[in-house]
Amino acid sequence: VKAVFERINETEEKIGAFITLTEEEALEQARKVDEEGIDPANILSGIPIGIKDNIVTEGTRTTAASKILEDFVPIYDATVTKKVKEANMISVGKLNMDEFAMGGSTETSYYKLTHNPWNLDKVPGGSSGGSAAAVAAGQIPVSLGTDTGGSIRQPAAFNGIVGMKPTYGRVSRFGLIAFGSSLDQIGPFTRTVKDNALVLNAISGHDVNDSMSYEGEVPDFASDIEAGVKGMKIGVPTEYLNEKGLEEGVKEAVLKAIETFKSLGATVEEVSLPHSKYGVPAYYIIASSEASSNLQRFDGVRYGYRSPEAKTLEEVFVKSRTEGFGMEVKRRIMLGTFSLSSGFYDAHFKKAGQTRTLIRQDFDNVFKEYDLILGPTTPTTAFGIGEQIDDPIAMYLSDILTVPVNLAGVPAISIPCGFSNDLPVGLQLIGKHFDEQTIYKAAYAFE
Ligand code: GLN
Repeated sequence: VKAVFERINETEEKIGAFITLTEEEALEQARKVDEEGIDPANILSGIPIGIKDNIVTEGTRTTAASKILEDFVPIYDATVTKKVKEANMISVGKLNMDEFAMGGSTETSYYKLTHNPWNLDKVPGGSSGGSAAAVAAGQIPVSLGTDTGGSIRQPAAFNGIVGMKPTYGRVSRFGLIAFGSSLDQIGPFTRTVKDNALVLNAISGHDVNDSMSYEGEVPDFASDIEAGVKGMKIGVPTEYLNEKGLEEGVKEAVLKAIETFKSLGATVEEVSLPHSKYGVPAYYIIASSEASSNLQRFDGVRYGYRSPEAKTLEEVFVKSRTEGFGMEVKRRIMLGTFSLSSGFYDAHFKKAGQTRTLIRQDFDNVFKEYDLILGPTTPTTAFGIGEQIDDPIAMYLSDILTVPVNLAGVPAISIPCGFSNDLPVGLQLIGKHFDEQTIYKAAYAFE
């Protein structure tokens, strides 16, 4: 833990990964672990971890990178926070992100910019940009992020590390500040595939506090990880490799990865996900609609910021939200409220739901014959700070390869697979519902 804080002190001014650091508490907890001695059966004991700032931590400020939660100190732990504590992992602080996880560059944070450790002029991706940059910069070995439409996989790709979005329902969302409740999942960032499997072991499992939590068994994700890919059938969606905006160097790296899988004994064939092109519009309607409802709780009364100017009850609501939310959050609330409004519900929200079903069926069809789906995680490598922030449509469109996975609820990982223009490229491996094991096996064999 001391080494972690030394490294953070050396690098944090340049990276800007953390919103809050909890050095004293971390050292105290480390002392306790030292005194009790490390339990050989618990491999994660004493390992430092960072937590994305939309996951509540008892006694430690949790902001979701919003001004509206600037002074919010939760009185309980999220289930994942509790689980990492039970594993004797040591939280060192809370990581920067896009405000309420809305974004793909961490530039919508109210607090600070986070820089990509590979090139400080580039974004770290988002929304879990702090979680990914901190691991890539060697500040911490593990962090937790959240993925509603790509926010674990895209920053993992941009930072050259491993990031897993588990199956919807695998990890409890209790204590995660909700964005799109039917899409949100928490997952780990690590430098290696095996570390990732070990951390997913620790945070998975049924939770009565999350009504969508999966009741089935949690397998040991690390136990059979060395089994290899011989005989595995992998599908590569035509749509993913022929995406218009796909950077040449990204495509080359993915084609090379395909050759590696073949040489390891897997069968790799072209498949189709014909509705994936509708993923972005369906996702932005569904995620924004759910967000507009979830964010109603920030009213200046129950949580965080209340406008000092407000004189009437209505002003408490209006002024607190006007001053407390950033531009991107307001855009989503308006888009979501519009899509749900009675005159437009059928044309937008209902249509988006129907589209979601078609997207899910695309995956089901491929998985009848294939064990895994492989493709790039993102069309491009990390873009420049300031380059896309004023063009929300361009920013949304770059989620084209990650959002279908959330709409279908299936698990997917991003692992590093080379470089394009000196920046890391991410390879996405998508699995069947609740089959994270096959993903980890393939990722481990490739690594
Ligand atoms: N970039 C997507 C969005 O802005 C995904 C965000 C996420 O997964 N939290 O909504």
